[in-house]
Amino acid sequence: MLRKYGKLKVLMVEDSKVAIKAISGFLEEVGVQPLIAETGRAAIELYQRELPDIILLDIMLPDIDGFEVAKEVRKLQGKDDWTAIIFLSVMSKDEDLAKGIEAGGDDYLMKPVGRVVLQAKVAAMYRLVRMQRALVKLTEQLNLANHELHRVSMTDGLTGIANRRLFDELLVREWSRCARIQKPLSIVMLDVDHFKEFNDKYGHQAGDECLKMIAKEIAKAVPRGSDLAARYGGEEFVLILGETDAEGARMVANRIRLQVAELKMANEDSPHKYVTVSCGISTVLPSDDKPVEKLVKSADNALYLAKRQGRNTAAYLDYGQGD
Ligand code: GH3
Ligand code: MG
Ligand code: MG
Ligand code: MG
Repeated sequence: MLRKYGKLKVLMVEDSKVAIKAISGFLEEVGVQPLIAETGRAAIELYQRELPDIILLDIMLPDIDGFEVAKEVRKLQGKDDWTAIIFLSVMSKDEDLAKGIEAGGDDYLMKPVGRVVLQAKVAAMYRLVRMQRALVKLTEQLNLANHELHRVSMTDGLTGIANRRLFDELLVREWSRCARIQKPLSIVMLDVDHFKEFNDKYGHQAGDECLKMIAKEIAKAVPRGSDLAARYGGEEFVLILGETDAEGARMVANRIRLQVAELKMANEDSPHKYVTVSCGISTVLPSDDKPVEKLVKSADNALYLAKRQGRNTAAYLDYGQGD
């Protein structure tokens, strides 16, 4: 029973006219018109141009031998164009078989090649090629899904900015980096003022929309690649500002504070009548012997100070202060 493999691309590398004729005939019976190379170098060139599914590769060739061709093909192939290589040889030494497999071959056929065996091997290799390609595609999909999963696990679902998990991860990294280059690191904690009143007055959904707007302003304010804006939880946000001293951090915090106030989102039951944020800032020259958590704690303490100072303001505390 013969299946037709019209779409199958076979490259035959063979310098004997007799073998070419015979093998071509067997392939044509299953609907395959083989590409033919009579030297090793021509084979490599044809391989690159045509990317065949299967290569029938004679070992003894006039220039470079079949083992060399196989090695070269394996070097050249991309992950999407895997090709099955079947060696053809009159030699029947076990060592040749081993050498062929080692050079990147997948199977071995003794010459003269019989019709039934050739057609069966081609069918089997074709199945292998398709399976290999399906596997590559599946692996790619899996990689993409993993990548997406990782991204989602680091993103806050409501606002689309980084979440607490990414903040924790990057803070440690930024801490080491700044310690290494001996540059200050600043943290800004932001908290929406009288947000409970906002929710009570306008509803939780409006509250969510408000948080999204604030997140946008915060994200805009930290364009530097090493900076990070994250939702810390609830109506609290946090910034990591690497290579930034207290003065720089204060500027960023105040810019955000003013931009949020500029949005003029009504919060009628709050003393300011509009949505505002308070900011707590802390800065440190990091080193490996200092605990990272203490910086977050100081910024949180500074935030508490800003709240006590009447809200819609930014307050600063040194590392370790305010406990
Ligand atoms: P303060 O100025 O002292 O920060 O007052 P506040 O009302 O903002 O602070 P409080 O901690 O009393 O309340 C925070 C409110 O934020 C309560 C909670 O319902 C609301 N909140 C927290 N997370 C979300 C959220 O994801 N969506 C909405 N809509 N509200 C949230
Ligand atoms: Mg809060
Ligand atoms: Mg609040
Ligand atoms: Mg509060």
